[in-house]
Amino acid sequence: MRLSRKAMDITESLTLSIDQKAKQMRAEGHDVVGFGAGEPDFNTPTHIIEAAKEAMDKGLTKYTPASGTLELKKAIVEKLKRDNNLNYSTNEIIISNGAKHTLFNIFQAIIDPGDEVIILKPYWLTYPEIVKMANGTPVFVDTDYNNDFEIDIKAVEEAITSKTKAIIINSPNNPTGTVYSKNTLLELANLAVSRGLYIISDEIYEKLIYGKQEHISVAALSEQIKDHTITVNGVSKAYSMTGWRIGYASGPRELIKAMANIQSHATSNPNSIAQYASVAALNSESDFTATMNKELNRRRVYMVDKINSIKGLSCTNPSGAFYVMMNISNIIGKKYKQKSLDSALTFAEELLKAKMVTVVPGEAFGMEAYVRLSYAVALENIKKGLSRIEEFVYELD
Ligand code: PLP
Repeated sequence: MRLSRKAMDITESLTLSIDQKAKQMRAEGHDVVGFGAGEPDFNTPTHIIEAAKEAMDKGLTKYTPASGTLELKKAIVEKLKRDNNLNYSTNEIIISNGAKHTLFNIFQAIIDPGDEVIILKPYWLTYPEIVKMANGTPVFVDTDYNNDFEIDIKAVEEAITSKTKAIIINSPNNPTGTVYSKNTLLELANLAVSRGLYIISDEIYEKLIYGKQEHISVAALSEQIKDHTITVNGVSKAYSMTGWRIGYASGPRELIKAMANIQSHATSNPNSIAQYASVAALNSESDFTATMNKELNRRRVYMVDKINSIKGLSCTNPSGAFYVMMNISNIIGKKYKQKSLDSALTFAEELLKAKMVTVVPGEAFGMEAYVRLSYAVALENIKKGLSRIEEFVYELD
């Protein structure tokens, strides 16, 4: 008996498995500092939890329309208007089981076998896998550490072929924290429009921006660009609701309808109670996100300063999300107690064994000379973990 080629071609999510490993070691009594987290370490705000309880008490526990409730779609329409300067109607919105599922549906709806999708490196590790699951071919385009991982428009242009169907962008970016400027977005969008490509804009970290830079939704740059763009978002990161599994997309009506048809046979509606709670998240004027951002920013500043003070390590100054890509290119090739650190993967393995610190090796994001650290971790643990990393680096030959 043989598994399908498709199943055998899909790799496990390294970030989830590393986070799992840290949790397991902690449960076994080890003092592990985990920098693998992909979720805010804050509780979901109480008013959202209350809305979920109220939905259950009212008996709103049955199937909803497969593409989501009208109430949540209306709240999303308002949110897109208010925050993103985007005008959509409710039939141009679909709600799914997290933004990951939204992205999965998009590729199922737009890709024919062999179609190519341009993905910028370093990338969120799920992008290539969901393109492959739709029988598409990921095509990677490099970005440069020395240029803050900004998009190289010329390199994107050179990667376009007759088979290219779409370009995925993610701003604020996981794993680099880069927030793309309006100019960059405009240039990329004009390229996509002129070559007849879809832009898939993953804006899940939209609310997590530090400093002066502002989040711009590429679809808001012109009506023509809007016609080519599918904007993806969700409640996971902005409201610390990762376990509730609500994501959504706005885009051309025909495409949203195709995604809804696919979803109707795959999962039916996303969880009804989580949808009612998400209405409360989007409609409330709580200062939760601002408070969370203030704390995340404090940790970001500490982490960036500390990494750049350790000889052999460096990082850019991320403007958004909650990750730092730590550059270990000066470490690769060194030895820890006779063990050669010839990749980010061995760096991460030896660091965990020697110092009980987990980081995500850059191979997961297509960049071998980096490891990703999340600062969705309490400041005291960041301090402890980084001083262990410092010790580790000083012990290298
Ligand atoms: N997009 C990016 C870039 C992410 O980092 C994540 C989660 O880590 C997601 C999408 C998915 O978010 P969710 O499925 O929880 O809505």
